[in-house]
Parts: sequence; C-alpha cells; structure tokens
Amino acid sequence: MNALKQGWFSEINGLWPGIAQSLEVEKILYEGQSEYQHVLVLQTKSYGKALVLDGIIQCTEKDEFSYQEMISFLPLCSHPNPKTVLIVGGGDGGVAREVAKFPGVEKIYQVEIDNKVVEVSKQFLPFMAKGFSDPKVNLHIGDGFEFMKQHNNEFDVIITDSSDPVGPAISLFQEPYFALLKKALKPNGIVCCQAGTVWSNLDQVQDTLTHCKSIFPKVAYGVSSVPTYPTGQIGYMLGSLNPETNFNEPLKTFSEDELDKMELRYYNDKIHRASFELPRFAKKSLKL
Ligand code: SAM
Repeated sequence: MNALKQGWFSEINGLWPGIAQSLEVEKILYEGQSEYQHVLVLQTKSYGKALVLDGIIQCTEKDEFSYQEMISFLPLCSHPNPKTVLIVGGGDGGVAREVAKFPGVEKIYQVEIDNKVVEVSKQFLPFMAKGFSDPKVNLHIGDGFEFMKQHNNEFDVIITDSSDPVGPAISLFQEPYFALLKKALKPNGIVCCQAGTVWSNLDQVQDTLTHCKSIFPKVAYGVSSVPTYPTGQIGYMLGSLNPETNFNEPLKTFSEDELDKMELRYYNDKIHRASFELPRFAKKSLKL
C-alpha cells in the first residue's frame, strides 16, 4: 500500500485534501481484502493497535474510548428510558461494549456489513470486540440500509457507527436513510450518527445536518476530541422524534463512583453539555 512507507502509515484520502496524519508502525498484524474493503490492523508505536479500513483509521487502542463513549452516551443519556438499542456498523465491537454498560438497556441489536471486520477485531482488538460477548448483544451481518427497511417502530435509540461516506457507508449519510431511521424508531426515539468534523468536512456535516433536520423535529451536533481522527476531532449528529428533547441537558447523570464502575474515561455530564458548544464559525455555518 502507498500509505505505508518507511515504517509510517499515512492516512491519505480525498475526504480531507492536503492533510494526512501519520502513525509510526511497529508491525503489520493483519492485512487482507474483504468483500467490501481493504482491512489492515497495525501495531503502532504511540497509539497501540489501530484498525484501518480502505486506508482510513477507524479506531486506535489509545483514543477509541472517546468516540465509543460519546456516540453511545450522548443519545442514551438524552432518552428518558432506553431499553432497545440498534447499532449500525460498529464492527470493532466498541459501541456494543459501551451501550451494554447503560443501566436499563435490555436488548442490543447490531447490523454490520462486513464479517471480516468482526473476525479481525475479535482476534486483534479484544478490548473493543469484547462488546460482542455481552449476552444482550444480537449481531446480524448485513447492510444497515437494507436492514432498516425491514424494521418498524422497534428501537428506542439507533446509533450509526459507520465508516466515512465512501464505499459501503455512502447510503448511511443520505436522506432516505434518515427516513428509514425514523420509521424504525419507537415514539420519542433518538438517533446518533458519526458525522465528520467542522475543520475538514464542514460541507459533509452541513449535508448530514440538512438530512437529519428534514426528518427529525429536534437535532443537535456535538463534538469530541479523538487525536487520530482527521483534525483531532469527530462530530455526532443527533436527532429526536420528540420536539421537547433538550440534547444539551442529559436526563441521566452518573456520580463519579458510577462512572468509575462503568469504566468511563471520557464521558460525564459536563462533557455532555460542553460537546454542543461549537466555535462561532461552525455555529454560523451550520445555523445552530
Ligand atoms: N469509529 C469509526 C469511525 O468513525 O471511522 C467507525 C468504526 S466501525 C469499524 C465502522 C463500520 O461500519 C465498519 O466495520 C464497516 O464495515 C461498517 N459499515 C460500513 N457501511 C456499512 C453499511 N452499509 N451497513 C452496515 N455496516 C456498515
């Protein structure tokens, strides 16, 4: 691969023209081509193990917890009583691991398109893939867009933990997908989708926001810091069927003791509120 040169992996992609983060590589743990994408697992010098799909970093051992906790706890803490949760994508198991911690969640369904990502994660990334061993988790291998067409009025929360909008994930960023999410939700249900960053993908964030707004009466866009994502940040698009939902104010909060017991390292209620505070240029562009 061109991206691997002289012991360094560089994340070169047209989604963020002119910039590329590089990680020093100690060892290539796995490299192969699945039916859907190129799959690479690296042992990196500073960020531990890294999962890379089609040349794009999905998660690293050192900073994955920020993303997995935020994409799970932002919607779960904004819902009054989430019992049934669907995860779309998430083949590394990290989001299942976090959702399974949430008190009151009874059933977790997950639809991931690529079984190879699940297998490789179980073998090389057990700190995330342990999410699949929770008895609440039911994993289905298939396309999230097609899966959604078969489900009506079933989920309290749907989390889309997809790769970026290239390859198999393109359909998960378009308006028809948000319409299917609405149909699959129970009354007052909430969605949360991976949504890019305002530094390198403002247009993409704007498009996702427009699609979400056209379907959901209440929307919000929050961010968290993830050093190995482009520009060190990632965004979360939230939508609620309940127009009264106030995403800025979590309905469920946890004590320090509870956060420790759940092994949360990034999320707390202060981080929740702060995640929606955007810089002025982003607020103006997104009209939030
Ligand atoms: N946290 C990561 C990020 O933000 O880049 C995403 C991690 S997770 C590994 C992304 C998963 O979405 C991949 O395993 C990929 O196979 C899956 N995926 C992509 N398109 C999909 C689709 N249409 N249906 C279901 N899963 C999909």
